[in-house]
Amino acid sequence: MFDLINHTETSVRQALQDYLRENTISCSCEQCQADIIALSLNRLPSHYYVSLRGEIMTRWKSQTTTNKARIMAEVVRTAQQISASPSHLSE
Ligand SMILES: [Zn+2]
Repeated sequence: MFDLINHTETSVRQALQDYLRENTISCSCEQCQADIIALSLNRLPSHYYVSLRGEIMTRWKSQTTTNKARIMAEVVRTAQQISASPSHLSE
């Protein structure tokens, strides 16, 4: 069974967890985190690789780790934007 995995998504989720560990945003509920991940992914290029039962079959993963700083910058920007106006209006 082959899976297509977007390495950018993995990196964005990791970057958000790293960010939230050291920073506080006005709301970090599950929905806001999903909004931040979705919006960040729309702004970043996707890097799909083929995985066979969790095993990475292409070289994309190592090639895209250089984008880590760019991904973190985008996640921080998006987190601040979502936190300023969460999509759920009633808390
Ligand atoms: Zn929220």
